[in-house]
Amino acid sequence: MPQETIFSKIIRKEIPADIVYQDDLVTAFRDISPQANTHILIIPNKLIPTVNDVTTEDEIALGRLFTVAAKIAEQEGIAEDGYRLIVNCNKHGGQEVFHIHMHLVGGEPLGRMLAK
Ligand code: 5GP
Repeated sequence: MPQETIFSKIIRKEIPADIVYQDDLVTAFRDISPQANTHILIIPNKLIPTVNDVTTEDEIALGRLFTVAAKIAEQEGIAEDGYRLIVNCNKHGGQEVFHIHMHLVGGEPLGRMLAK
């Protein structure tokens, strides 16, 4: 069994978070340390540590991340100007929390894709 992270506690509402959306498959909440005017994390309720652990069984939940991202972008008023969706994996990807999450960032021009 993969080890739970703080995100499991957020899903179960055992610790506070600014949850903007939740259903049977996914939860979305504002990042505690926003890197842009809008920075929301969208995660599957099922604990999947990294992209390397994804299986075909996860396709519906992970597809939901995109439909929810589009819905939240609309709600946040950033859909038309655009935004960026980011999923980090392991050390080189800069992943810090080992519960797959999609970053939805926007609300301002985001510049080049990779800081190099
Ligand atoms: P990663 O680097 O793993 O892709 O991103 C992890 C993200 O989770 C970071 O942007 C970090 O600010 C956010 N984060 C870590 N702990 C918490 C928390 O307890 N609450 C919230 N809302 N965000 C968190």
